[in-house]
Amino acid sequence: MRILSAILLSLALVACGQEAPPPAQPAAEAQTIVERIEAAEAAGAPFEFASELDQIAAEYVRLALLFGTIDANYVDAYHGPASWRQAAAATSHELEDAPQERLFVIAAEIDRLIQAIDDLEFADDGEAFRAVQLLKTVRALAVRFNVVAGKPVSFDEEVAGIYDVAPPSYDLSQYDAVLAEIDALLPGEGSTAERVDAFRNSLAIPQDKLQAVFDRAIAECRTRTAAHFDLPDGEHFRMEFVNDKPWSGYNYYQGGFESLIQINTDFPIIIDRAVDLGCHEGYPGHHVWNLFIEEELVNGRGWIEYTVNPLFGPFGPMAEGSGNYGIELAFPGDEKINFEREVLFPMAGLDPALADKLDALNALTGKLSHATNEVSRRYLDGVLDRAEAAAMMQKYYLASAEKSAQRLRFVDTYRAYVINYNIGQDIVRSYVEAGDDPWGRFRRILTAPLTASDIQEDMAAR
Ligand SMILES: [Zn+2]
Repeated sequence: MRILSAILLSLALVACGQEAPPPAQPAAEAQTIVERIEAAEAAGAPFEFASELDQIAAEYVRLALLFGTIDANYVDAYHGPASWRQAAAATSHELEDAPQERLFVIAAEIDRLIQAIDDLEFADDGEAFRAVQLLKTVRALAVRFNVVAGKPVSFDEEVAGIYDVAPPSYDLSQYDAVLAEIDALLPGEGSTAERVDAFRNSLAIPQDKLQAVFDRAIAECRTRTAAHFDLPDGEHFRMEFVNDKPWSGYNYYQGGFESLIQINTDFPIIIDRAVDLGCHEGYPGHHVWNLFIEEELVNGRGWIEYTVNPLFGPFGPMAEGSGNYGIELAFPGDEKINFEREVLFPMAGLDPALADKLDALNALTGKLSHATNEVSRRYLDGVLDRAEAAAMMQKYYLASAEKSAQRLRFVDTYRAYVINYNIGQDIVRSYVEAGDDPWGRFRRILTAPLTASDIQEDMAAR
């Protein structure tokens, strides 16, 4: 298999020695791959993997954890052996006073793994598919490494190299007609962004009703998802309201079918966000995706690489795309706005007569989402300075200056990750709606697991 690309690092000078582990006997009662590894290690012997690919996959996990010590956002979730995380922390700590050497060690290991995967020969197509997905993940790490190491990496290089998506091109003038429609929908004083912000703020959930409204919305998202998916026993999440974050919500998957979902209350939380976040972060979004991965890929197939969910990796468009598309999957047609009007607006003490205008506004602002990709591209590539980017972000994001600045802070932190929300949603939608059984197709994306180019190839072959 020769599938190396030009993304290879040039830094690989330091070899990382790996000793072959002696055989170990797993404990009889241990079931999952993680439990068997932990049992072997507890017995004082490194675990012996069944195949070379399994071994390389485990080395990727260790590398991801080590890289996560210098890129705090890289490891979105980890539910593998706890000792591996401790080992990564210890290695990183040893090299704390030699940060350049630490980078060399990581770069060399990235190169070594890419080469090792490239040299593999496969028993069957399933193993080859698994290896290709792992290779995409390691190559994505190589690109992210370059960002963290301070090398110039363009927006388009990140989009293609990390997220496995062909870079889009945008003519911003195509959004003028949508902006004009929004302007007409909400007439009055001030800029369009100010009027949109004021209208949305008039539909904020009062602080003392936040918990109840969210609980109700999440329960509805869960019921609708559980009607199509067998969720594992004991799955649950905790929800916290937090402040001072660059995002509006975040799911920290804890492993063991448990999530911690944080909702940012820096800005008023508008009524439509309850179902949005309940679906996106919870059901059938991130929480469900993570538990499918743990249940099917890790526990079911023993694919140890999926004990790490790298934020900057080829499954990003599927993660955010399924989170966003999951809203319309669970609430097709008018079902979301009807549920909000009939159930959530009264709970929050809001006027249900305003629901239709909110729905019309959201249909229009949804069309502007891709414009913020272009703002992010120009900002990250240095075409726009921060003030120019902030003004342009406000124009297309249609929020207050403060909330638009929060969005730019998101771009500072996560960079080209922004494309995953809208381009990912488009890709997930295109696949799900191309056949019967939408929930089954949605699940297949997450558990195959497919990346953007897999789906685009599948669609092109039709
Ligand atoms: Zn998300």
